[in-house]
Amino acid sequence: MKKFITLCLISAQLFAQKTPKNVIFLIGDGMGVSQIYAGLTANRGHLNLERVKVIGFHKNQASDNYVTDSAAGATAFATGKQTYNGAIGLDSLKVPSVTLLEMAEQKGLSTGLVSTCDITDATPSSFIAHQRTRSMHEEIALDFLKTKVDVVIGGGRKYFEKRKDGLNLLDTLRKKGYEVRRELNLDGVTKGPFFALYAEENPIKVMEGRGDALLKSTKKTLELLGQNKKGFFVMIEGSQIDWGGHANDADYAITEMVDFDKSIGYAFDFAAKNKETLVIITADHETGGMALMGGNMKTGEVKAAFTTKGHTGQMIPVFAFGPGAEAFGGIYNNYDIFTKIKLALKLDQK
Ligand code: MG
Ligand code: ZN
Repeated sequence: MKKFITLCLISAQLFAQKTPKNVIFLIGDGMGVSQIYAGLTANRGHLNLERVKVIGFHKNQASDNYVTDSAAGATAFATGKQTYNGAIGLDSLKVPSVTLLEMAEQKGLSTGLVSTCDITDATPSSFIAHQRTRSMHEEIALDFLKTKVDVVIGGGRKYFEKRKDGLNLLDTLRKKGYEVRRELNLDGVTKGPFFALYAEENPIKVMEGRGDALLKSTKKTLELLGQNKKGFFVMIEGSQIDWGGHANDADYAITEMVDFDKSIGYAFDFAAKNKETLVIITADHETGGMALMGGNMKTGEVKAAFTTKGHTGQMIPVFAFGPGAEAFGGIYNNYDIFTKIKLALKLDQK
């Protein structure tokens, strides 16, 4: 009898663990296996990412190209549709598709977007906006106001307050009840809705002194979103790993990778404590065709070579941690991640 009860308790626990209330979706833009391993090497042989037990790979072609860009890549994650390079929240026929963030909002979950680039850039905007092409920053900024997103932290302030149409969207956000900040001063912010655009354009590189801006943003966002008993969905982007790849600058990619890994570690800590949080980490694509030609785990030295200034078509690893993580093992399409998150959060159920 005792054994039976113990078994029941264990299976009840296992069952309970399978349904997360919260999803933290971390995207390292341009983060292929080489970028991860270069970061691990530079960090003297360790990354927080190594705490993960479930790993998969995604195939990531765009509808019009073997090699995806960040817009088609993020739109695939956000909407479950394979689409053309440059598309923001539209399918391949340019029809708007509902996003995970919008579905979460409709279900009463809190939502958030965090980046280290313009918040209107392709990756974050694909979760909240619907526009023909990624360069339409001002139209994308307007789309943010059509939602009830709870926490937004990133750069690109000019698209909200120095616009061709003369509108000041930060004022509009204040009128809608948002606490709006123009710098990364998060003091006294104890609840959402909260909007911080701490750079006029893209925030600077870690190498130029961005410091712990991403970790700070991650901590505050999880603190605010975690207050909703129904749960939350948040996308947090390490945006500039990609730019290190485009610049064929290994130090740039590596410092951004190690910076991103700090937020990964914090997300794992949050999930380990909270027990109802699923953390997923992946990239949209690899950038630079980076290869590791040598290195030293003791000194952190990395010798890297690049094959392109653009993106590549490599399969991309997916790492999952927490209840529901098992669904992310295997090889699947990038747009299947939409379905996996939708099922994990039961977003298709009332
Ligand atoms: Mg991006
Ligand atoms: Zn790129």
